[in-house]
Amino acid sequence: MTEGKRRYSPSRLQTYTTCGHAYYLEKFVREPQRQAVWFIQGTAVHSAIEAYERSFRMSAPEMPLEVFEATWHLEMEKAYKEQPDESMWMVGGRRKLSTDREKRFEMGRNQVLDYIGYHAPDGRMRPAEIVPGEPAVEVGFELDFGEFLCIGYIDMVVEDQETGLWFPEDWKTGSKLPVDPFQIGTYGIALKELTGQEVPWGGYWDCRNNELVTKDLTPYTKDVVGNWYRQFHEGIKAGVFLPNPGDACFTCTVKPTCVYAA
Ligand code: SF4
Repeated sequence: MTEGKRRYSPSRLQTYTTCGHAYYLEKFVREPQRQAVWFIQGTAVHSAIEAYERSFRMSAPEMPLEVFEATWHLEMEKAYKEQPDESMWMVGGRRKLSTDREKRFEMGRNQVLDYIGYHAPDGRMRPAEIVPGEPAVEVGFELDFGEFLCIGYIDMVVEDQETGLWFPEDWKTGSKLPVDPFQIGTYGIALKELTGQEVPWGGYWDCRNNELVTKDLTPYTKDVVGNWYRQFHEGIKAGVFLPNPGDACFTCTVKPTCVYAA
């Protein structure tokens, strides 16, 4: 029975561990949040890569690029409806918002083209087929930790054609890869539960540098991962939302209403 149990996700855990007060303002107080073009770029690149992988890498680049552009415009419209005040949009460096939009649109298109260039239909790393005949992209999972659940989606489960090993991969469009193991460690356990196979490592496809960055997942057993979420769960129940003023404030979506902001 999973009804009535609290549901968490790797991204919620990441928000909580980065700054508990940000989690509180976002999820409990529901303060208006800042927007950023880089969120839209990330979503549009994901949709395009997903479309390319779903075609078994057989589509010409035009199709994923069309998906990129359609997602970009849709997400931009949604984001402006949610946050029409342009002073609440974050931009990198000293750029104007309009310049940021142009540059990131071009960067996102190039990230899609580069991804296609590095992922040929006969490449060594190809999507696994958990369900035969279906590339394993956007693979949903639900981990039951007793009192609560952890749910999410793995961008892609990859099969190494040389070793036959399957591993989870997350596509990253930002300038920094995560330093914490929460997301990729959770994906490792989720994939193990889905397939019954050992998952010794996982990876990020780094769209900025066009490389696969691998991570050793052997330290992150189900007990270890379950304990991350248990601490999170207990923290929420006890109302513990510690602020963490520092580097995280720069890209924090609720900074305008935070009294601790650095
Ligand atoms: S501005 Fe800084 S301290 Fe405040 S919620 Fe955001 S990350 Fe936390």
